[in-house]
Parts: sequence; structure tokens; C-alpha cells
Amino acid sequence: IEAPSSSALAPPVALSYELFPPRSDAASATLWKTIHELERTDPDYVSVTYGASGSNHAKALDLVDRLQIETTLRPLAHLTCVGGTPAELSAIVNELLDRGVRGILALRGDRPQDGVLPHGGLQYAQDLIELIRRIEMRRSAQFAAGKIAIGVAAYPTKHPESPSEAHDVEVLLAKQRSGADFAITQVFFHPGQYSSLVHRARRAGVTIPIIPGIMPLTSLRRILKLSQLSGVEPDGALVDRIRSVGDDAALARKVGVEATVALAEAALGAGAPGLHLYTFNEHESALDVLARLNLPRPSRPSLIARHRAR
Ligand code: FAD
Repeated sequence: IEAPSSSALAPPVALSYELFPPRSDAASATLWKTIHELERTDPDYVSVTYGASGSNHAKALDLVDRLQIETTLRPLAHLTCVGGTPAELSAIVNELLDRGVRGILALRGDRPQDGVLPHGGLQYAQDLIELIRRIEMRRSAQFAAGKIAIGVAAYPTKHPESPSEAHDVEVLLAKQRSGADFAITQVFFHPGQYSSLVHRARRAGVTIPIIPGIMPLTSLRRILKLSQLSGVEPDGALVDRIRSVGDDAALARKVGVEATVALAEAALGAGAPGLHLYTFNEHESALDVLARLNLPRPSRPSLIARHRAR
């Protein structure tokens, strides 16, 4: 009798990817190649971003639809609420449900540049969670197969508008109490930041899974852009290491993949129940990282075989 490998003994790790709706036909072609490559890894779901204030509403819904119809992948639709009225957001939630979506990442989105919110609009992600749960209750007869899964954002480093990390944890607890089922973290660059968030959240009473959002650190341009957008300070040592290899793209990629693997391994070591990879609609870096991680994953070949037989 062969002894089971260590990965066979380890609990399975959930796997998911973030995609964004393409802005052009060329970007769409690249995205669909990526989608088919990622599909081979049989992720638990793929999330589809949504522009703040619904700026790409039609494109996001189109991608969600195509994922459901043309692939084996389960979409998690991001939805932002800032400034939207309850009536507008109810219409979008009902539209998603009518299209068969059963997972929503409930987000506030970034505030308008002038900081002024339209009168009567929703303010916080928590308001959106409560709105989704009310709609779910009204339509409960249709959800015999299970309820809507609601995810939320969590922050390993202080949210730029928040007074403190402690306040962020209070907000996460409030989102859990309003009906969130799980959280996905903002990008982070230091291993201790994820474990610290989980520790502080558990101490405050947060019990939902907190999944680390991992960005493949293979592009310096992207690291700097995302840090600027999210307000998360990049790891100076990593930035220096990538800069020091100059124009050697292959070496820069190797350094970036190694750093990402170290970050993901540290999060898994701290008890992360899964990994959510920010793909930027490219599969190579995500797959390079996964190849190195060799995650314990449940095998679901029947799902793919069923789809291919269609
Ligand atoms: P909230 O949880 O509402 O928090 C926003 C701010 O308000 C925080 O400072 C918080 O401390 C404060 N706050 C919240 N609730 C309360 C309360 N009850 N009382 C007092 N203060 C409160 N943006 C997009 O536009 N599209 C996307 O698709 C998208 N996807 C994302 C995916 C992930 C995994 C993450 C981590 C972020 C994503 N974002 C996206 C960015 C997100 O919209 C911003 O980080 C936004 O600034 C905050 O969103 P939130 O849902 O965390 O808001």
C-alpha cells in the first residue's frame, strides 16, 4: 500500500481568479485565451469586476453570461453600490439573479472624485449586502438549490479612508452580521499583513473565511499602478530587486514568481482556506505561481467532461 502524499493529506485549498471585462475586441481575444487556460485548473469560481458607478455594466454582464454559457466556470459577479439608489441596485441584483448568478461580491466602489454622493444613494457595502438579502428573501421560492453567496472586501492594510485598522475589522464584522459569507482581501505585499488581519478579525468575532487576494508580482509597472490605485504601499525591497535586473524580462519574471509563491505560501501557512489570484486577464503568471505551489485541490473531472460532451 502506497503512503498518501502530503498534499493528499492536506485539506483542499479553494482557488479562484479575478477577471475584468475587456475594453476592446483585441483585449477580448486575449481574455478568452486566458479563460480557457484557467478553466483547465478547475477553479471554484472566477470573479468579474464591475466599474464604480456601473460604468461598464453591459460589458460586465456580458462576460458573466458568456462564462455561464460557454464554460464550466462559475462566476462571482462584483457589484459596486456607491451613489446608486436602492431601486437602481435592486434592478441590477434582480437582473443578475435572473441570469442565473448565485454569487455576488458586494462592494462600495470608489467615491466620486468630488466626494459628493447623490442624495438617496447607498453609502457602504454593508447597505448593498442588506439589499441583496432582502431581495433573496422576497424571491426565496426560487432558491431551492441554496442561497446567494455574498462576498465582501477585507483589508490587510488600512483602507485609505478609514481611521484605523481596528475600524476596518469592525466594518468587516458589520458586513458579516449583515449577511456576508466570505471575504477576499485587498492586495498586500508582506506575509505578516494577512496573518495579522486574520488574527485581529478572529479576535473581534469575525468567523467567515478570509481569502487572501494574491497579485502575481511579475510586472513592476502593474505593482506600482495597483499600489497607487489601492493606496497599498508596495514592498520596497521587492521593487528594488525587480529594478536591479534591468531589462532582463525573464529574470524579472522569475524574481516576481518567487516573491508571489512566498507570499501565497505564507498565507496558506497562516491557515488561508483558499487563494484568489488577481490575473489582470493574463494566465501565464497565475499558472507559473500555481505550478510552483502544487495546491491540494479536489479533482472534479466529471464537471469538465460533462461540459466537453455538450
Ligand atoms: P466599505 O466596506 O463600504 O468601506 C468603505 C469605507 O467606509 C471604509 O473606509 C470603511 O472603513 C468605511 N465604512 C464602511 N462601512 C461603514 C460603517 N457602517 N460605518 C462607518 N464607516 C464605514 N472596486 C470597483 O470599483 N470595482 C470592483 O470590481 C472592485 N473589486 C474589488 C475586489 C476586492 C477583492 C477588493 C478588496 C476591492 C475591490 N474594489 C473594487 C475596490 C473597492 O471598491 C474599494 O476598496 C472601496 O474604496 C471600498 O469598498 P468596500 O466594499 O470595502 O467598502
